[in-house]
Amino acid sequence: MKRIYLSSPHLSGDEIRRIQEVIQSNWISTTGPELEAFESEFCRTTGSKHAVALNSGTAAVHLSMILAGIRHGDEVMCSTFTFVASANPILYEGAKPVFIDSEPQTWNLSPSLLEEFLKKRAKRSKIPKALMLVHLYGQAADVDPIKKLCEEYGVLLIEDAAEALGAKYHGRQVGLDGRFGIFSFNGNKIITTSGGGVLVTRNEQEAVLARKLASQAKDPAPHYQHSLRGYNYRLSNVLAAIGTSQLRVLEQRVRARRENFQRYQNALKDLPGVAFMPEPEGFFSTRWLTCILVDPKKSRGTNRETIRKHLESLQIESRPLWKPMHLQPLFQDCEIVGGGLSEHLFEQGLSLPSGSLLSPTDLQRVIDAVRECF
Ligand SMILES: *Cc1c(COP(=O)(O)O)cnc(C)c1O
Repeated sequence: MKRIYLSSPHLSGDEIRRIQEVIQSNWISTTGPELEAFESEFCRTTGSKHAVALNSGTAAVHLSMILAGIRHGDEVMCSTFTFVASANPILYEGAKPVFIDSEPQTWNLSPSLLEEFLKKRAKRSKIPKALMLVHLYGQAADVDPIKKLCEEYGVLLIEDAAEALGAKYHGRQVGLDGRFGIFSFNGNKIITTSGGGVLVTRNEQEAVLARKLASQAKDPAPHYQHSLRGYNYRLSNVLAAIGTSQLRVLEQRVRARRENFQRYQNALKDLPGVAFMPEPEGFFSTRWLTCILVDPKKSRGTNRETIRKHLESLQIESRPLWKPMHLQPLFQDCEIVGGGLSEHLFEQGLSLPSGSLLSPTDLQRVIDAVRECF
């Protein structure tokens, strides 16, 4: 039986020609014209001002910490309902994460919990330096009230939109409202460079500094001279060429993922205890992954684990929703604000195969397999 994956890469068909051209040009390392072309294409597609192409989304999260001036002992707030790569770079800089729970409308960070927490901290004059706001599963967090709170309390806003390229919030691309935004082109994301990421900023000097830090922080001198701590984080010019081809099909990929969601919803919504990830008014989700909740009190004895195991026995990959950061052994000593909702989402949530390459037959196989559990 052919294995059905959660979210596999989907080539546009144009990559091989572009890679061939890059190889013939001999610009196969981490400098070259394809990097600039990819960065400008990214800005055109998303409406960002400056984009810096990096070798991973995690590298982009890390550079955002450095550019935000996060130092040892600082506190950085972060969505607890996320993938660990949003939070690890807080540790790289010796800072302390404070995790904030989600809200039911978006499954992303709760503006009211954030407000409560900031009010409480303001009384002690102990406001964290920054907020890493995550947009999960192709859907925006409720950015406007969150941004307003950040401005009011002097918190630097960084957006992890690694999973939200193509997602819109009141008509605008998600991830561009903060001081920095992060995108990922890992193989499982909506489009891919095989591995890669982008850091966006509105400030040209910050973009220039990010490119410098990503290339070993070389000072302008013929000998190798360094005044800053640098990294080897730049994207390869070969992979940048793949990225440009992929950006051109982004809209089609979003459409295909939304269609997957629609099919699943139509075929499964009558099942007892099954609910789908919401999409509030004014939000446009890419439905990067189709996520369902299974309430074991209503689902006639089945739950997300029995479904996951049944699918696995049929060579179908599915995954529990992200395990919240405050439940991770790695972060057991960190402060958590709220926590109940993300725990509930983790306990009941399952992501179904959602790639844009899935055929109608594949989707039907998944649908039949889920229905068999009831
Ligand atoms: C994928 C992902 C990242 C990291 O991106 P990589 O390119 O894999 O390093 C960061 N945050 C979130 C929420 C992600 O899903």
